[in-house]
Amino acid sequence: MEFIASITLDVSYVHKIRRLWKMGGDPRNPLKNVLVSPLFTDPKTLAAFRELRENNEVEQIYFDSGAYSVQKGRISYEEMYWSLLSYYRENGWADWYVLPDYVPLSSDSPEDVWYKVQTTANMSNLFYTEMPEHLKLRALPVIQGHSIEQIEFCLENYLKIEGLQRIGFGSFPTNGKNSSVNTLSPDALSSLSHLTKILDVQNIGLHAFGVGTPPVIFLLHEAGVRSFDSVGWMKTAGFGKIYMPFVRAYNITYRDRTARGLTKQAFLELKRLTNHDCFFCQSFEKLAQSRDYRFMHNLIVVMDTIDQLSGPRSIDVEKILDIYSPYYAKMNAGAFA
Ligand SMILES: [Zn+2]
Repeated sequence: MEFIASITLDVSYVHKIRRLWKMGGDPRNPLKNVLVSPLFTDPKTLAAFRELRENNEVEQIYFDSGAYSVQKGRISYEEMYWSLLSYYRENGWADWYVLPDYVPLSSDSPEDVWYKVQTTANMSNLFYTEMPEHLKLRALPVIQGHSIEQIEFCLENYLKIEGLQRIGFGSFPTNGKNSSVNTLSPDALSSLSHLTKILDVQNIGLHAFGVGTPPVIFLLHEAGVRSFDSVGWMKTAGFGKIYMPFVRAYNITYRDRTARGLTKQAFLELKRLTNHDCFFCQSFEKLAQSRDYRFMHNLIVVMDTIDQLSGPRSIDVEKILDIYSPYYAKMNAGAFA
């Protein structure tokens, strides 16, 4: 399972993460894989990433389509299509190129959803033919759709592309302020399992877009997903919340009275249960006080969760899910029983 850090902020944050990471002394590289939306990212940030990639400090760069901005009405789908094509033609330094998808909203009529699904599939295929030859093996088309028929419509179109190595899935339900956070539902989970069964045969990896709290990482892994990108570790820290391995975000600052919190005692118990320890969570008080420490801790927790999934497991995942992420424990039992 590969974690792709989605970076939506300016370059000063990239430097800050790197600086803090060195302080923590962890030998892993949190920015090994990075996803950026070139159409909506400051050119200085893109230049910094290009340099990091050229020095191999970042090993894979994913260019995202920026479909979220179409969803928010900032640009039209057509504008995104043409701007993306011209940007990709001039920038061969990324490792993966997400094709232009059109995200259906839960408020769309059934006709509108089908229109967006068909546009995503047909225009992605057209876009692919217009991409420079040497980038074609790095194309990453995205499946959008609410029903199995719609998902399969996209899939059938993409499987016509020869030599495809990765396909993305982007139709997750949203919640949070401004519907800006993707979340995993039982339906989305069963779509993912269905897709990986088909894709595994052809050795095509499935990427999940914009999801990745620790219990969700576990479920994605169970469903056979190979990679995911997330900005949740950063966003959630801004809301005073922290992750623990296999545990959803809990508030520890108590500034948000509506959020369910985690006491210091429960936090210490969780550190013990999950074998988690890092430079940034040595002091509960400091973690509650510093947003920077929270996002660094969250970043390490994401990486710890993945390491637990890929190596020999030293913690009782089912027990932790049952106690601290019951919603996902139920989803796990339902989907894979
Ligand atoms: Zn920690």
